[in-house]
Amino acid sequence: QLSNRLALVASFLPEKSNFADIGSDHAYLPCYVCLRDEKAKAIAGEVNEGPYQSALNEVNAHNLSDRIDVRLGNGLQVLEENEVNQIVIAGMGGPLIRDILDEGKDKLGAVDRIIVQPNIDARSLRIWFKEQGYALKEEEILEENGHIYEVLVAEKGDPLSGYETEQIEKELWLGPHLLKKNDQTFHQKWRAELEKKQYILEQVQRSSQVDEEKIVQLKKEITWLKEVLA
Ligand code: SAM
Repeated sequence: QLSNRLALVASFLPEKSNFADIGSDHAYLPCYVCLRDEKAKAIAGEVNEGPYQSALNEVNAHNLSDRIDVRLGNGLQVLEENEVNQIVIAGMGGPLIRDILDEGKDKLGAVDRIIVQPNIDARSLRIWFKEQGYALKEEEILEENGHIYEVLVAEKGDPLSGYETEQIEKELWLGPHLLKKNDQTFHQKWRAELEKKQYILEQVQRSSQVDEEKIVQLKKEITWLKEVLA
């Protein structure tokens, strides 16, 4: 049984997908996709030996080695140029996912969709997509086993589509699509963040060395969160 988190990630792959799952660990995602779609094929990339072996075992257990190629290596280095059309990177921090994409830009030529699920700091990915000429097409948020996850889908295109220029800083942080949907899970995530920010603000204001810049930033973020949660 695949986690709801990875099932949501998989739902953004097209039929007959030809994709890479980087940091695949047990290769659960590519196995799930290829078992449901006999035309799909995948490359499962892993930088660590243990997870690489787990991925090989899982793929062999499902007799999928003709359609899922498990490769040991760092980030997008496991790919040849123009080898895949979609890239999935899930279950890591946003900055690590961004660095993997940034260091592998030469492998993105034939990639028409990037699906990422950062565990923290989705903003770093939204910023990277915007700077690199990707449009943020969709965003979803879900809660599973007490954790809240965000899934972002980007395609080559107008990097500003979906954003409103006068509030882009806020949208890069909270997510332009998630902000519009403003659902219960989104509220849950940002209500907790608001409490944290309010606590940090109190601490910073009490500190002997007052950091004015930090206070201004925190107050701005707290105002945004209060508006969003109102
Ligand atoms: N993608 C799966 C998921 O979402 O359930 C596994 C996530 S697991 C927490 C992160 C995996 O990424 C680990 O197996 C780790 O070895 C791998 N990883 C970390 N950095 C990597 C890199 N630069 N290239 C390839 N794999 C990497």
